Amino acid sequence: MSRLDSRFTEALERIGRAGQRRTLRPAALAGGGRIVREGRSLIDFSSNDYLGLARHPLLIERSREWTARLGAGSGASRLVTGTSEEHLALEARIAAFKGTEAALILASGWQANAAVIPALLAVAPGAAVFTDRLNHASMHAGVGLAGARQHRFRHNDLDHLDALLADKGVDAPARVILTESVFSMDGDRADLARLCAIAERHDAFLFVDEAHATGVLGRGGAGLSSEVPGRIDCVMGTFSKALGGFGAYIAGSRAMIDYLVNTASGFIFTTAPPPAVLGAIDAALDLVPQMEAERVHLAMLGERLRSGLTRLGIDHGASSTQIVPAMIGAEEHALALSARLEAAGMLASAIRPPTVPPGTSRLRIALRASHSEADVDALLTAIGAAG
Ligand code: PMP
Repeated sequence: MSRLDSRFTEALERIGRAGQRRTLRPAALAGGGRIVREGRSLIDFSSNDYLGLARHPLLIERSREWTARLGAGSGASRLVTGTSEEHLALEARIAAFKGTEAALILASGWQANAAVIPALLAVAPGAAVFTDRLNHASMHAGVGLAGARQHRFRHNDLDHLDALLADKGVDAPARVILTESVFSMDGDRADLARLCAIAERHDAFLFVDEAHATGVLGRGGAGLSSEVPGRIDCVMGTFSKALGGFGAYIAGSRAMIDYLVNTASGFIFTTAPPPAVLGAIDAALDLVPQMEAERVHLAMLGERLRSGLTRLGIDHGASSTQIVPAMIGAEEHALALSARLEAAGMLASAIRPPTVPPGTSRLRIALRASHSEADVDALLTAIGAAG
């Protein structure tokens, strides 16, 4: 019992009445693009383990090996005694992978955005901040923590961004644009070349979250930022999705990384990522650049799924990646469809408000390189059968 239990219960009842109560259900990633839930093996269309690396023997082995050699924990924060040779070597590898001067590892993608954005904004007091409306919650949290006023532009509407910069940004001491290269719930891409041109024209600092592009898109899986080398000021990405492990990186100039080491609260005041996490990242970086066949296969599966959804009359928005939303609309319909699919042996979770805007509940279908064409066809047949 806690002193606030009656309030917690009341709040939960309110969430329940709004049809938005969530509960934690156990699930375990299995090989071959499958997931085990409540003893049943389902085809997994919901995890972000796009390249199937979470269960790759090389990641598991290196994670084990680094733990055996270096221990289960890292002992302290990076600035105290938590920086190992492995941290520094890995950051050099990440910088080379991203084509930047330097990189910094953070505990998670959420933490990276929530910690780094306020630190970046602190260097430019009064900066006008421009954010895509569909940016991830962690970016909004970062801007909120900074206490900065944000101007939200319509999703991927770069004309709107351009106009806002000209209007709200012109008298500001600095301008900062925050966006994603692949949007997590829609699977569409930002036009980075145009975004860079707009940022350059307005002398705006450009921050891009590559959580869902890292490993899957761009040269050697280095993300879409690899297609506009040297033009994005700050690139963030995660190791928790296509790279199969855990943690996040920030990549950019040496001066920016050194500044973040000195100022980003969520870097300074947290224990360094442990050897098991570092080993898995190191192994993923060995594998990802060579996984072109998997990336081509994923792209082909995306096309197949989108064509199939179109044939069924289901909107998939502007998706052009491994994330394909099947737009349903009403929450209860999305939940009912997801339940029907689960009964048919497939996990495709319903995503609903507040994660996505009201009226846009959907199945967020996340493809994996280990899926076959037959898996995608089975999903389409099951969606069709569910009506
Ligand atoms: N950014 C985006 C765009 C994301 O989708 C996510 C994860 N859902 C994060 C950041 C957070 O990353 P992590 O899961 O590593 O905390």
